[in-house]
Amino acid sequence: MLNILKNQDPKIADAIILELERQRNVIELIPSENFVSPAVLESLGSVLTNKYAEGYPGSRYYGGTENVDVIENLARERAKELFGAEHVNVQPLSGAPANIAAYFALLEPGDTILGMDLSHGGHLTHGSPVTYMSKIFNFIRYKTNKETGLIDYENLRQMAIENKPKLILVGYSAYSREIDYEKIKQIADEVKAMTMADIAHIAGLIAGGAMKNPVPLFDVVTTTTHKTLRGPRGGMIMCKEKFAKQIDKAVFPGFQGGPHEHNIAAKAVAFKEAIQPEFREYAKQILLNAKALEKTLKELDFKIMFGQTENHLLLIDLSNKNISGKEAQELLDKVNITCNKNMIPDDPRKPMDPSGIRLGTPAMTTRGFKESDFEIVGDLISRTLENKADETALAEIKNEVLELTRKFPLYPELSAK
Ligand SMILES: *Cc1c(COP(=O)(O)O)cnc(C)c1O
Repeated sequence: MLNILKNQDPKIADAIILELERQRNVIELIPSENFVSPAVLESLGSVLTNKYAEGYPGSRYYGGTENVDVIENLARERAKELFGAEHVNVQPLSGAPANIAAYFALLEPGDTILGMDLSHGGHLTHGSPVTYMSKIFNFIRYKTNKETGLIDYENLRQMAIENKPKLILVGYSAYSREIDYEKIKQIADEVKAMTMADIAHIAGLIAGGAMKNPVPLFDVVTTTTHKTLRGPRGGMIMCKEKFAKQIDKAVFPGFQGGPHEHNIAAKAVAFKEAIQPEFREYAKQILLNAKALEKTLKELDFKIMFGQTENHLLLIDLSNKNISGKEAQELLDKVNITCNKNMIPDDPRKPMDPSGIRLGTPAMTTRGFKESDFEIVGDLISRTLENKADETALAEIKNEVLELTRKFPLYPELSAK
């Protein structure tokens, strides 16, 4: 692969080839990552990247848009079919810009948004003080219940009644339980708030029928397309018809310039893949694998936050393991297991060196891992953390990781030569 690039710019070509090798040789457990199909890769690397097409299909500010119109319409139609959406905007460049555009579409500066606390599984874009959005909108935060591990819906309702938010926001990046959208919608109706779900992490599970779908119920639903949905890096907004104009205007010209049509083509390709029956099997297997990893880790005395997982990820509190999240992430890197450090609810430690790690099954499920493979993964993680000072043991674990990854070839059609 990369025959032209290798000649013209060997430094970049070499780094890309090394990255392919890295991806092949690690057990990838970052829950927000996945491996796109060769067809998605091909679309991303296409001549569509050359095209300007500000505006929307049928109403653009540039000439020569007849082909990208076909592509963007297909992306929109397929997304509508996949999620049962009334209206879809496929132009957001990623998850964060999708959320920002949605806020500006629905709200005025200073309006109140009720979203989940970051350390309880919320996302930076849901009002973290380090973001500019937190200076523009008034974010207040609900939390999960310590005993049940679930969102504290009663507390959420009390906060909604007291603070009268314009928007109630659900959808998380580290929370591992199903969401009661009906209950949220009831609370929102009671206080006359709009509803927004950010399904960035679980979109593929929803598309594959393995989790509940908020799209028919909620006003606005934002997502990334590159996590469980297994498409290109990008974002998308779905909404009720009555918000369609506002949403489209907020994305362009409100917030973004020209859409990335190569990316939109790749989204369309991924949506077609997600409509196929095999994708339902994939979504189901992601959950089975997460359960298998959970069972193994629980037996090895790991503390799973929120009580259990009902999606693709596990948030683990390592405080009983005498190791921090940062240390664990670095140690696991040494044996080619990739994951990320993560805050646990009300974490006493700092974000750059928190108490937990976050593990997910989507990427390795794409490679073909089944429950028995994830039992091995749980065991390898435990042994790695137990043998943190034993270089020989760590080298042995790394060999076992390499052996396992070799059984599940990644992009066999791509040659590193
Ligand atoms: C990943 C994520 C985002 C942001 O997506 P980017 O593509 O990284 O900008 C937004 N919300 C949630 C809940 C996420 O998990």
